[in-house]
Amino acid sequence: MSVREGLDFHLLSMKPKFIANARVAAGAGIFAALAIGIAVIGPMAAEARQHRDHALIEEAPEPRPINYDKLTQEAVALLQQYVRINTTNPPGDELDAAKMLKEKFLADGIPATVWEPAPGRGIVAARLRGTGRHTRALVLLSHMDVVPANPKEWQVPPFSAQIRDGEIWGRGTLDDKGPGVIELMAMLAIKRAGILLNRDVIFLATGDEEEGGKIGAGWMVDHEADVFGDAQYLLNEGGGILSRPNGRKYYGVSLSEKTPLWLRLTATGEAGHAAVPPDNTAVTRLIAALDRVAAYRAPIRVVIPVRDYFRAIAQLDGGPPEFTNLATALRDDDFARKFVTVPRQNALVRDTFTPTVLAGSQKTNIIPASAYAEIDGRLLPGDNPQKVIANLRKVIADDSIKIDVLLNFPAESSPRKSDLMTAIGDLAATENEVVVPMMIAGFTDSHYFREKGLDAYGFIPIEATPAEERGVHGLNERVSVKQLGAAVRRMVTLLRLMGTRQ
Ligand SMILES: [Zn+2]
Repeated sequence: MSVREGLDFHLLSMKPKFIANARVAAGAGIFAALAIGIAVIGPMAAEARQHRDHALIEEAPEPRPINYDKLTQEAVALLQQYVRINTTNPPGDELDAAKMLKEKFLADGIPATVWEPAPGRGIVAARLRGTGRHTRALVLLSHMDVVPANPKEWQVPPFSAQIRDGEIWGRGTLDDKGPGVIELMAMLAIKRAGILLNRDVIFLATGDEEEGGKIGAGWMVDHEADVFGDAQYLLNEGGGILSRPNGRKYYGVSLSEKTPLWLRLTATGEAGHAAVPPDNTAVTRLIAALDRVAAYRAPIRVVIPVRDYFRAIAQLDGGPPEFTNLATALRDDDFARKFVTVPRQNALVRDTFTPTVLAGSQKTNIIPASAYAEIDGRLLPGDNPQKVIANLRKVIADDSIKIDVLLNFPAESSPRKSDLMTAIGDLAATENEVVVPMMIAGFTDSHYFREKGLDAYGFIPIEATPAEERGVHGLNERVSVKQLGAAVRRMVTLLRLMGTRQ
């Protein structure tokens, strides 16, 4: 029972950085008691008591080595068990999955809690304690619900979690149960190895993400915000280890997302028999309005993460030179015309408005009194939705058409520079890769937390092939066993990098 000189000194002088690096065997309990004692008796008295305190601290063992092969096997078994719990949303039914994950944490002595925000729905959180609260916690977020899968279209039953050719097949293996398992296994590995981080790590798996997250992340933010009240950072889906067509890899981290502005347009008119039609009906008015919306192109605007993304891509690909300064390049009409012919590029530089749902009469010979369409609008960060709607009214140019907002929330971005971004950069450097900031055209649950002031990043340290990526919301979703293991290892490294930073 002795303590390294350095550890003793720095514990007493309360230098958090050294405390974090120190190895304290008896754990947070004794450290807390010691810290309280010092606060009460003051530094001079504390020094006088130094020798007696020695007896309270025992030298921690070196962190035990992590057997990544065994950890990978365990991750595979857990993911199989998780995929076999059918959490197709709707209806979601995440409660059993939440309970299963909770038990997994409890078995290793990590406290975990399950909530049931609505009958059968589930949320689970677990907290791996660090040395104290002087550094803000990191949330590892994932969602337990999955999109539907039609077994007739799949090569294997989608909830069987079969292993075939070195891959685990099943709905959710990449979106988003696999990432949840990576986060969970990394926390277990840190705990088992006796690695003491200087910040808490909070695991949070929610439901309902695929339907907007109101009974998942949204519920958590509204009802149990204390669970992550001390957190500053959050990692979520939305990015990963990606590659360019030339094979160059990069760590794509999403800092920002477009925000949905989902609208319903309702046209009204006189109902009647279609054998004697008036000039204008609800349906013809709606069609004319939609025609104008479809022809409309919102102005081009390059937000900072998008500018930075294309600049990084130009470096990885060795061109084109226009990508080095996209905002300037897009002022050239010829270049802009070409650029926006790629739908993904178009979506990154302007708001889009896409009619999707259409409803009118149920019968061919009946003119309905009303007809409606839904428009999936996606706005760039910084747009004011009220102004966007006012502009759309002008585009539609028919005041009789009613516009209702179905879904909208503010678009927030997270900073390019932060402790977590630095840690991801350090992780990338261990593999000689670079970090590329991104804005994604879709949206995830990250916005709930960005609105609460957390710095949220879309990044899971896993590499997926294009074929594997096509399985997300598609057919034959699968993840490579080898990549799953590599991702757990990277997540452990990332937590260690993040857990010695302040
Ligand atoms: Zn997802």
